[in-house]
Amino acid sequence: MYPLLTINLGHLRENVRTMKRLCGEHGIRITGITKCFTGDPEIARIYLEEGLEILGDSRGDNLERLSGLEAEKWLIRPPMLSEIERLVRFADVSLNSEIAVIRAISEEAVRQGRKHKVVLMADLGDIREGYIDYEELKRTAVEAEKLPNVEVGGVGVNLTCFSFIQHDTEKLLKLTSIADDVSEAIGRKVEYVSGGNSAALDLMLRGGIPAGVNNLRLGESLLFGKERARYQYLPGTHKDVFMLQCEIVELKEKPSLPWGTVGVDSYGRRPEFTDRGPKRLKAVCALGKQDFDPETTVPADPKMILLGASSDHLMLDLTDADGEFHVGDPITLQLGYFSTMRAFTSDFVKKVYIDS
Ligand SMILES: *Cc1c(COP(=O)(O)O)cnc(C)c1O
Repeated sequence: MYPLLTINLGHLRENVRTMKRLCGEHGIRITGITKCFTGDPEIARIYLEEGLEILGDSRGDNLERLSGLEAEKWLIRPPMLSEIERLVRFADVSLNSEIAVIRAISEEAVRQGRKHKVVLMADLGDIREGYIDYEELKRTAVEAEKLPNVEVGGVGVNLTCFSFIQHDTEKLLKLTSIADDVSEAIGRKVEYVSGGNSAALDLMLRGGIPAGVNNLRLGESLLFGKERARYQYLPGTHKDVFMLQCEIVELKEKPSLPWGTVGVDSYGRRPEFTDRGPKRLKAVCALGKQDFDPETTVPADPKMILLGASSDHLMLDLTDADGEFHVGDPITLQLGYFSTMRAFTSDFVKKVYIDS
């Protein structure tokens, strides 16, 4: 039964409620991002029950899983030309930066007798997706608006994901001015001005998001209560929605330092070890990097030390932890963003939902 991931829907509910209230105070609607949990409808349902009306995911497979839920659905990665059929079927909106893709969306939307909205992305410095030539963005909007069964849903930006360039008022003012230009060029006001992800929340809370930005696409902050500019947990949220239990398969007293000639790890890096003495209580657990990410995980008991993991083994130092341990006992870990994503992607991790 291990590894076992417990998903606390009650705590998630409170996170969503808090974020919705905070964003509402700043005139911002949330697109609830579901990619971290592979679009699991049991979890996405909580977003909708707490009043969100839009769901977004980067993958077509996940959007397909969400198809039973009543909401506007966004594909938040530029669509692959090879997934247009499924995009049009399972998404109402997509974030775009290539006219060839938008033309293909139009053709497919006509074929399926459906409508699709495109949000055009502006790259404001992170150098990931989006137009850096804002005139080209505007020309694309004009052409897209004329295509059958496609309409311009708005403009958007993504920051702090690749180059870790932060949101600031100047950049978001630029986005609103691009939105105004597009609105003028197509002859109507665009619906969405989508100002970013969880990394925009710090700016929002400081009152720095200009009027005109009316949407944020939030994943990490809904799931962990964490804004991503200064990595602070927001009051009224929980960071323990995703807890993973794994089983001790070996428990022995061992030294803290290895012996022999040190080589390099699978990434070519030389590992470093902290000397905590010759006799430490070490546990090996049946969990590995295939199932979780050790760098975004902490043991639930802060007195335990997570030493590291290989693809299938997790090493813990239990010397200072409270209680007695035996082979076969479960150890509880609190997962962060990438760790949660991996737990959902791994077929080896079982999932249970609690609502408390
Ligand atoms: C993943 C993603 C988001 C959500 O990011 P969080 O930091 O989890 O809020 C928003 N927009 C795009 C385009 C994304 O890829």
